[in-house]
Parts: sequence; structure tokens; C-alpha cells
Amino acid sequence: MSSTKLFKLINKSTISKVNFRFLSGLAKVSSDQESLVVNYDNKIDHFPLVWLRDNCRCNTCFHGPSQSRIINWNEFDVNVKVRSLQAKDENQKVEINWSDNHKSIYSFDWLKSRSFSKEDQEFYLKNLYIPQKKLWSNQQFLDVMKVYEYEDIMTKDEKFYNWLMDLSTYGVVLLKNAPKDAMECKKISKKIAFIKKTHYGEDYHIVAKADTNNVAYLSSPLQLHTDLPYYDYKPGVNMLHCIVQTKNKGGENLLSDGFYVAELLRKENKEAFDLLSQTEVNWSDIGEEDGVRFYKIHRAPVISLDKYGNVSSIRHSIPQRDSHFTVNLSNVKPWYRALKVFITKLYESAAEFKTEPGDILAFDNTRLVHGRIGYEDTTNIKRFLVGYFVDWDEIYCKMRVLKTQLGL
Ligand SMILES: [Zn+2]
Repeated sequence: MSSTKLFKLINKSTISKVNFRFLSGLAKVSSDQESLVVNYDNKIDHFPLVWLRDNCRCNTCFHGPSQSRIINWNEFDVNVKVRSLQAKDENQKVEINWSDNHKSIYSFDWLKSRSFSKEDQEFYLKNLYIPQKKLWSNQQFLDVMKVYEYEDIMTKDEKFYNWLMDLSTYGVVLLKNAPKDAMECKKISKKIAFIKKTHYGEDYHIVAKADTNNVAYLSSPLQLHTDLPYYDYKPGVNMLHCIVQTKNKGGENLLSDGFYVAELLRKENKEAFDLLSQTEVNWSDIGEEDGVRFYKIHRAPVISLDKYGNVSSIRHSIPQRDSHFTVNLSNVKPWYRALKVFITKLYESAAEFKTEPGDILAFDNTRLVHGRIGYEDTTNIKRFLVGYFVDWDEIYCKMRVLKTQLGL
């Protein structure tokens, strides 16, 4: 059939015949025969025909129980055309007869929720994909760090969801009155999904010990840093459960929003920002844990950007930055200068507070840098924290499940 004839057929048998005036809106094929034009709620949306055919919901194209596409792509025609359109189910759905002799039915509600309009797509990305982050400086810290009761998040799904949402939005959240039990980490991580394991194991105990394989286990001040920068799949969230806090001075946590400081740097010192986002640094961890030797290296900039230029991850650790620095000689000193500026700003924006026994502090390890004020244990009371990690993949997954269940 020639394209002119086909066009006439479409016009005659479909557009003019049913006039595409469905109760829930209007639908027609675009004049270039490339998309379905749908008009609902006085809003016009275009759905490319190739996308519609690819997303047919029938049993041969889509497997419902696994919510997965099974359409045979070996026979897929990317230039597929519409032969005719028909309203279905009291005009709630549209049926398309395709040029490849297939028939598909789409509900308008289903189409509406998959709109290609920029604003609808942005809404979907922020609402379901990843919530928008709100950046902060230490001036805003007390407003930003939301406090939840352990019992609430363990028993009330909405509180549990809100807790995860605040963690995602602000990168930090505090839980009060958790059991002062080192095994508690198993329960809460299981409620989200599971602990992210590293070469230090699942949970790690932070108690001062002189003979240690990691500087976090000293009682001296711990400079601002992100954990595990030497991992490509760097764990997403740190959970620090305070079981015993020192009664002496010191032991406070320091937290600074690396995304906020990176954006500040971009504004105030673009040259330093470019150097830190374009220079790959070798991060490493070399040692032994429980008789198993490890030798990790990962190369990544201090400030990682996504393809839109947004800051996507911060890596900073004085101890875990390797002495191998595989960059051009001429870049070395300018990079150090830029790092000094960035670190100074991280400290200027850092908030300080001391957790109490029963507190679980959760913070975004891809975004915040954290540190600790030095302290001294007394003979009877030894500061004791249990740390572990959970991944953002699992947290966002749980948030979407809860959001769907709760109808939020
Ligand atoms: Zn199908």
C-alpha cells in the first residue's frame, strides 16, 4: 500500500469516522504519521508510534507478572504505522491496529502517567525517581536535621517513609531512643533491605584502639572525609549507632554538606571547581582485615558531575588519597591549591553536634563529609559506636514501595 493510500485510509477510516472525540479526550495520528496526539484535560500530548508499539501491553508483548517487556524485537518495525484507531471501554481506552497486523490497547490513564511533556517528566523524575535534594550550610543545620523516634519508624510506615525521605532530601537524619544494642544494626538495615558489605565486613565497631588498621579507630580528631572513596560502588549511606558516648569533652560529630560547598565553589571560584571536578584522584586502601589482605584503588575526582553538570558525588579523604597521583606535572600545584580552598569551605560550613547513647545518625556518604572532634575515654566509660552502610539503590527502592503502598 502506498503511503498516500495509507494516509487516506487513516484519515477516512479513523480520524474522520470516529472523529477521535472520546469522552475522556481526543486522539488522532499526527500529520507526519509519527505519533499519536492525545488531548485530555485541555492538554495535548504526543506519544511516538514507535514507543507505543514497543510498549504494547498485550500478553505476547508484555509479561504482566514480571512487569517486563517480552515483545520480539527481531521482528520489530521502528517505522510502524497506524492502520486504524478505535475507542474502547466507554472511551477510557484507545485501540490501535498497526501496520504489522498487531493490535494494541492503551488506557488514557496509562498514557497520561507516561506523558512526554517536559513538566510531567520532571515531576515523575522528582516524585518517583529521586526526590530533589535541598542543600544546606551550618546556619540551617538545626532546621535541616529532622529527628525521629526509633519506635515510630519501626512501627509506622508513614514515619519510616518520611525518615528515608528526609535522609534523601537533606542527606542527614537522626533517630532517637534505639536499643543500646550492637546487634540493632541488623534489624534496621533489614527493614530497609540489607547492610552493604565492605572489606571491613558488615558492621564495624568504633572504639579507640592504638593498634588499628584504620585511623577512624583512634581517639584523635578525625578530619572531614567521605568513607570508602576507593570503591567504585561506594556505599551510599552511613549509619552510626551511638551505644556509649564519652562523658569527657570531645567526641562530637562534624558534618558538612559537600554538595552545598561544591556549588558555592562553582560560584565563587570556577577555576578551583573545574580542577576538582576534572582531575581524577587515586583513592586507595591497603591493609589487612581478619587475616585477609586488601588492596583497593579507585580513580575519581573529588567532585563528580553527572552528564548534565550537576554534582553527583563527593570524594574526600586525607588518609585514603593515594601517594600515586597520575596527572600532568603542571596540574599538581593548582589542584592542591583548589583542594585547600574546598576543604577550608567544607569546615566553614560544618555543623557540630554530639550524639547520645541510643541515637542512630544516618547521613549520605555520596554527599556529606563527616569528621569527629578528638576525645579521651575514661577508665570506666569507653566511647562505642557501631557503624554500617546501606545503599541508595535499596533506600530509593524501599521509598517507592512505601509510596505506592501508602498512596502518597
Ligand atoms: Zn502486543
